[in-house]
Amino acid sequence: MDDVLSSCLNAEGMSAQCVYDKINQELETDGDRYKDLGSFTAVQMNPQARQLVMDNMGINLINQNEFPQTTKIHQILVTTLATLLHAPDQQQVTGCSTSGSSEACAIAMVAHKGRWKERAALTDRPNIVLGSNAHLCWRKFATYFDIEVREVVFKDFNQYPLEDMLSLVDQNTICVVAVMGSTYTGFCEPIKAINDGLTELNQRHGWNVGIHVDAATGGFIRPFIDDSSLPDWDFTLPLVQSINLSGHKYGLVYPGIGWLILRDETILPDKMNMTASYLTGETQSFAITFSRSSALVIAQYFNFLFYGIAGYKAVIANCLKHAKQLTSVLNKLDGIKVISEQTLPIVAFLLEDDTGELSETFTAQLKQKGWLIPCYMMPSNIKQKVMRIVIREDMTNARLDELIQDICEVHAR
Ligand SMILES: *Cc1c(COP(=O)(O)O)cnc(C)c1O
Repeated sequence: MDDVLSSCLNAEGMSAQCVYDKINQELETDGDRYKDLGSFTAVQMNPQARQLVMDNMGINLINQNEFPQTTKIHQILVTTLATLLHAPDQQQVTGCSTSGSSEACAIAMVAHKGRWKERAALTDRPNIVLGSNAHLCWRKFATYFDIEVREVVFKDFNQYPLEDMLSLVDQNTICVVAVMGSTYTGFCEPIKAINDGLTELNQRHGWNVGIHVDAATGGFIRPFIDDSSLPDWDFTLPLVQSINLSGHKYGLVYPGIGWLILRDETILPDKMNMTASYLTGETQSFAITFSRSSALVIAQYFNFLFYGIAGYKAVIANCLKHAKQLTSVLNKLDGIKVISEQTLPIVAFLLEDDTGELSETFTAQLKQKGWLIPCYMMPSNIKQKVMRIVIREDMTNARLDELIQDICEVHAR
């Protein structure tokens, strides 16, 4: 972006049609959203959902008394997610929509810190224990909120160092963050084993350290996979106190919505549930943002009603089928190794003996064909560049065939 930018606010305006055409023309130089393979967020919604989004763009979610039905729908969605995540008592559950998982993670962190503070001594310093592959937002908010980050370093792609993690926990650990679907590889951390190890540790020391599950990606996938061999991961596990999910990832809603679900109200320190009274009645919220459109909440409601459990299952099954197909093609190509486990429809792979340039060239050549594939260093002791393809709902058979053909062609060069 070397252009010299100038203000776009001119003395006079232009006709709406001129502006519309001009902007569309400018946006044509952007990438093709359907070929943006690194992104997790939904790129398309059903026409009726789109209409509802447009109809509700002007409704402010925070005006709870003015729009009580919207508020009720929001509450139904929290209850729906709590049920999906096996919360033991739906009446006790509390939760809210956010602008995305990052905001949900920030609120969860503040809540866990607040709860820790109630039991801590004045001179104690809080810490949070997380894997080296946790999303950057955790480190960012830990810095904002002055919480020490204790990082469990991964030595291999798909092996969670459980003992190392347990050795980092102490009485000042506000919670352990477990990831259901790593952003880097799709790896699902063994949350049941983390729960069991932590239970034992808590008992031994008389501690009360719980788990927050970052299910930004996996939260809308795992509940829709019928496979009894997969271990428990959600509120079924006693130490799981809070879970975040991205409505705009596999919740299949346009970018701008996430969810935080808390097992029960005791996880939320009283002082976080602020009541504002400057609207036509009292408004209660523990989200960080105040004004936000209700459109995407309505869109989430649309999706639950439209897809039902069967619909979400079908979408996920189709994504997994495509991921499997792509994985088997990649594994047959010389020098390419798929490292993702295939629990989630995320295909992460690397080029063997790559010092960095090989994968850069590989992705650059695919970019010439329109495919946008991220290529990055793993945030751990694994000194390897990894590429990631996220199979979303919008991937069609035809597009996948085109992708496979282009990958094979570039690989053969
Ligand atoms: C995407 C992601 C986030 C951030 O979520 P947003 O919805 O983009 O704010 C956090 N954690 C994980 C594991 C993610 O994949």
